[in-house]
Amino acid sequence: MIKSVKAEIVENKPIAPEFFRMTLKAETLASEGLPGQFVMVKVSPNLEPFLRRPISLHQINREEATVSLLYQVVGKGTRLMSETQKGKVIELLGPLGKGFTWSDSDRVVALVGGGCGTAPLVALAHSLLEDKKEVHVLLGAQTKEKLVCEEDFISMGAKVKVATDDGSYGHHGFVTDLLKNLIHDVALDMVYSCGPLPMTKEVVKLTQEASIPCQISLEERMGCGIGACIGCVCKVRTKDGAFTYKKVCKDGPVFKGEEVMFDD
Ligand SMILES: Cc1cc2nc3c(=O)[nH]c(=O)nc-3n(C[C@H](O)[C@H](O)[C@H](O)COP(=O)(O)OP(=O)(O)OC[C@H]3O[C@@H](n4cnc5c(N)ncnc54)[C@H](O)[C@@H]3O)c2cc1C
Repeated sequence: MIKSVKAEIVENKPIAPEFFRMTLKAETLASEGLPGQFVMVKVSPNLEPFLRRPISLHQINREEATVSLLYQVVGKGTRLMSETQKGKVIELLGPLGKGFTWSDSDRVVALVGGGCGTAPLVALAHSLLEDKKEVHVLLGAQTKEKLVCEEDFISMGAKVKVATDDGSYGHHGFVTDLLKNLIHDVALDMVYSCGPLPMTKEVVKLTQEASIPCQISLEERMGCGIGACIGCVCKVRTKDGAFTYKKVCKDGPVFKGEEVMFDD
């Protein structure tokens, strides 16, 4: 069943250049939403833009019945979101998709986030720490000022390392350099990743080489978000060595690293 929700904006403010955090009073999203799931946001009460925009659940606060969305302003839809004032009621569909999973045997885990891909990892880290996992967080950003959520992860009790493309903070280079070192130093049971495609591919490569299971969230462009338009398919391996296509919105956005076929 498609879950349409009306939610009041409790807060919507910039947290870094281009990045905004929107908090919504939304009982069903807060009670049913899981880390890695997303919502389709109707960014304007008008018909234009027609398509809703997919944004991950960034924070899920069951006690206060709120959820937060962390989004980067990249185009018309996210710009309209950033201009929507506190107190307004917006329409969303959700929670949608299949989120991240973990089991009792996953004791030491790493979360790798790049840019706005860091957003869903905050809710994930919160749940994993509640479940008494040792959580390592590796964050990648273009520059220090575009780094988001470092303090959120630290205050939760995660072990955080940062990489910036220009070397303005933390390791000068890619976040996957940090993952390579962490894999060398720590016995990881699971790696979770969300970020740009080149980063995701490298995370899959490194974890496969080290035989560590990995879950990746794909932020494919999406039309409907509910499996109807088939605009967001990805190619996945099947057990017989062939391949099939899956819908990122319905079968994902989280997939096992080894099942996704990236090239072609
Ligand atoms: C499941 C899912 C969860 C997402 N979660 C978040 C989130 O938590 N925070 C966040 O900031 N963004 C997230 N995104 C990406 C977000 O949906 C897009 O950035 C947004 O739809 C862009 O809308 P727009 O109208 O502002 O930009 P548009 O005008 O539609 O596009 C502007 C530019 O952004 C590019 N773009 C648009 N969509 C995507 C995309 N999905 N991936 C990469 N580039 C894109 C376009 O190619 C174009 O260059 C998520 C996407 C998916 C599929």
